Amino acid sequence: MQNDADRDAESPKPVRRVVIAGGGTAGWMAAAAVSRLFGETLEISLVESEEIGTVGVGEATIPTLTTFHRLLDIDEREFMAAAQGTIKLGISFENWRSEQHRYIHSFGSTGKDHWSAGFQHFWRRGRELGLAGSYDDYCVELQAALQDRFAHLKHYRMNYAYHLDASLYARFLRGMSERNGCRRIEGKIAEVLTDPGSGFIRALRLERGEVIEGDLFIDCTGFRALLIEQALGVGFEDWSQWLPNDRAIAVQTSAVRDAVPYTRAIAEKWGWQWRIALQHRVGNGIVYSSRHVGDDEARQVLLGSVEGEVIKSPWPVRFRPGRRLQCWHRNCVALGLAGSFIEPLESTTIHLIQRGITRLMQSFPHVVSQAGIDEYNTQMADELQHVRDFVVLHYHATERRDSSYWEYLANMTLPATLQRRIDLFRETGTVFHAAGELFAENSWIQVMMGQGIEPRRHHPAAETMSETELARFLADIRGSVDRIVAQLPPHMDYIRRYAPGA
Ligand code: FAD
Repeated sequence: MQNDADRDAESPKPVRRVVIAGGGTAGWMAAAAVSRLFGETLEISLVESEEIGTVGVGEATIPTLTTFHRLLDIDEREFMAAAQGTIKLGISFENWRSEQHRYIHSFGSTGKDHWSAGFQHFWRRGRELGLAGSYDDYCVELQAALQDRFAHLKHYRMNYAYHLDASLYARFLRGMSERNGCRRIEGKIAEVLTDPGSGFIRALRLERGEVIEGDLFIDCTGFRALLIEQALGVGFEDWSQWLPNDRAIAVQTSAVRDAVPYTRAIAEKWGWQWRIALQHRVGNGIVYSSRHVGDDEARQVLLGSVEGEVIKSPWPVRFRPGRRLQCWHRNCVALGLAGSFIEPLESTTIHLIQRGITRLMQSFPHVVSQAGIDEYNTQMADELQHVRDFVVLHYHATERRDSSYWEYLANMTLPATLQRRIDLFRETGTVFHAAGELFAENSWIQVMMGQGIEPRRHHPAAETMSETELARFLADIRGSVDRIVAQLPPHMDYIRRYAPGA
């Protein structure tokens, strides 16, 4: 049975006024995109409250941000200088498989695929025959990260992302959005006004009384989810059985050495710490499960291990992993923390914001239709589930059993979708890439092997090369990786020339 609201939602609504609630990374990314593409035809406003502020974290990205910037015509040097940006070639996972073990999940591709099978199969056979080095030796980005090098090269395009100062990035996007016609409104939203017939959001009423009317509302109010949850009550699917971490403490420190071109993720007995090195400072934090450790102990571990001087006092963040049952409901689309939360182990939230925005742009112009909403929600749900599985993999596939936290994670029942991938890889060395999935085969392989999952056998195609051919195949790739990496200068020498921050 359809109710009135559902029927109403099926009839297209002209969208002329877009109201963005919230001005964190999600709000300003949305404003930058909508105003860049539709600034001349739509009326765009963004409401944010300085008193409430932003979550203040979220400084590591993944390579897809470069695509978003191209879409918005953002000049890389200008952006990096404005956001004190550094390069990120991957993530260094320390103490994850076992204490003292380290591996890098890099953004590069490893080796060279043969027409018949993935590189990992040839590498595995080479390893059996004593012909192959470490899997890491066959990836430019991984070796560049290990050797702390970076440059833009003419003949090889490195796959990279950025570390950025979130508040400077939001300021940069704000300038751009305002130049493209977005109106910024300072104030606290006191009430979300809905239409009694359709259930659509009609307007936001600010504490000082002003009413901001709109046709399409983008909820970027962070964990508060003022519109999508508090007003529309779409519901939440909780993922804490697989991702038990529910708190974080963040702290900023001065830089004591040149920034490295990778994020550090350092596992603890009941969570993990991050280190994100920018040009002018370091972002640090600890993510943990409140069922396994107290706030004071987590804070002490964090402050006892950071380097440099504390330049912004530690601040706590509480969260619940999972997703809204609908990221788009009626005339409200939720982006960022308002829409979903998967902890930042693989730095995926900014990417998911960007995906939400580009999908929304594709549904424009000018109508809210139920068919478009359904498609959007299905795609977002699929994408979130893939990312969730990838993050859960890091926790489950581990040899650590040194605390009740790691015991729980190693023994938990996995989502069936993830269990299937692990079984397939263990049995055959093969990984599949689902349609529209963010992480490519090589990411899955690097993390599975990094966490200690070794395939039992390789693809028979790897037997079609003679030992001599295989040795040459592997040596050629390794030689080419070494030659490219040798041309790269130290990462920060390059950044200081390329895009120095003020
Ligand atoms: P917020 O930054 O919280 O912004 C909410 C906005 O809504 C603010 O402007 C606020 O003032 C406004 N607002 C709220 N209520 C009202 C009201 N009543 N009236 C008016 N305005 C209001 N993501 C990554 O991609 N990489 C990372 O490395 C990463 N690290 C993270 C680490 C931690 C510990 C956490 C918790 C998250 C991390 N994330 C990361 C996610 C990242 O923080 C978010 O992607 C990003 O900050 C977007 O946040 P947001 O804009 O949704 O929310």
